[in-house]
Amino acid sequence: MKKHNFNAGPSVLPRVVIENAAKAVLDFDGIGLSLLEISHRTKEFEAVVDEAVALFRELLGVPEEYKIFFVGGGASTQFFQVPYNLLEKKAGYVNTGVWSKKAIKEAKLFGEVNVVATSEDKNFTYIPKGFDIPKDLDYLHITTNNTIYGTEYHEDITSPVPLVADMSSDILSRPVDVTKYAMIYGGVQKNLGPAGATFVIVREDILGKVSRPLPSMVDYRNHIANDSMFNTPPVFPIFVVKETLKWLKSIGGVKEIQRRNKEKAALLYAEIDRNPLFRGTTAVEDRSLMNICFVMQPEYEQLAGEFLEFAKSKGMVGIKGHRLVGGFRASCYNALPKESVEALVACMQEFEKMHVK
Ligand SMILES: *Cc1c(COP(=O)(O)O)cnc(C)c1O
Repeated sequence: MKKHNFNAGPSVLPRVVIENAAKAVLDFDGIGLSLLEISHRTKEFEAVVDEAVALFRELLGVPEEYKIFFVGGGASTQFFQVPYNLLEKKAGYVNTGVWSKKAIKEAKLFGEVNVVATSEDKNFTYIPKGFDIPKDLDYLHITTNNTIYGTEYHEDITSPVPLVADMSSDILSRPVDVTKYAMIYGGVQKNLGPAGATFVIVREDILGKVSRPLPSMVDYRNHIANDSMFNTPPVFPIFVVKETLKWLKSIGGVKEIQRRNKEKAALLYAEIDRNPLFRGTTAVEDRSLMNICFVMQPEYEQLAGEFLEFAKSKGMVGIKGHRLVGGFRASCYNALPKESVEALVACMQEFEKMHVK
C-alpha cells in the first residue's frame, strides 16, 4: 500500500532526493568510493558544500552581507549558541510554544530575558501581534512556525533591534524578506534533509559584540571563516540538503512551493471546517501551512482512537497529534505531494459517512 508521510520531523523528502542520496552512498560522483568514506576536505565534497550554500542563497534571496553555514547540534544547540554570541545585557523573546520556551530557558543563562509577547494564555493557539519591541534589546527572537501547535507568522515582522528567527519548520516554504532578519537558523530535518545538520544565516555586523570569551566551536566567526569546515561537518545531511535544494530549484523555487503549500493547506483546512466530526485548534489567520492540527468535535471525542486506526489502514503515517495538543497533526512539508492531502481528505470523508447519519 502507498504510504502518505505526514511525519512532523524527520519527515518526507522528495523521492528523487532519496534516490540520489542512496546512489551517493554507494558511489559518490563516480569516484569509486562512498560519500560516507571520503574526507570532507576533498574537492568533491567541498563542491557539495559550495553548491548547497549557493543554492540556499539563490532560493531564499540571501544578500551578500549575510553568511550561510552548516553545523551539527540541531536547532536546540542554537538555543544557547545565539545568546552566547549575541546577548550582552538583555534580549527579547516572543513565546509561541515549546520551542520558544526552550530558547528562552537557555538565553537566561547568559543575561536578562524580556518576554515581549506570549500566547501561552490560550495554549499557544495564536501568534501575538501589535506588541511593543523595546529599543534597548540586543536582539529579538521569534519562532516563525510552531511545529507542535500549528501556528505560523505569515508576514515578516519589522523589528527596531536585530531580529533572530528559528525557521526550523518553515524554511524555504515561502518567500522571506531576509533583510528584515539579522539571523535565521534551523535544523534541516523538517523541510530540507535528514537529521544531523543545522543551517545558520547571519549578518556579520552583529557578531563580535559580546564581552565574554567564546569557545571556538561556539563562535560563529570561526564557522564563517572556515566555510562550514571548522570541524568535520555533517557530510551526509549536507549532501542531502544540496539535493533537496536542487529539487526545489527545478520545480520553480519558493514562489512555486508556496503556491503548492497554500493549495495543500487550503484543501485540508476546508475539510476540517466542513466535516462535522472535526475542528481546527488554532486562530484561523495564524494557521500553519506546514503543521495542520485538528481534533474531534467534543461530541465525537470517543472516536479519536478509531479514526487514527482507520487512517493508518489507509496508509496515513504520522498523523497522531503531539501530546500537548492531542488529536491529530498532519505535517504538510514542501515534499509532501498534494495526492497525500487528497488521500487524507478522502479518509476523513469516508469516516464521516461511517459515523454521521
Ligand atoms: C524541530 C524543531 C526544533 C528542534 O530541532 P532539533 O534539531 O531537534 O534541535 C526547534 N525549533 C523548531 C521550530 C522545531 O520545529
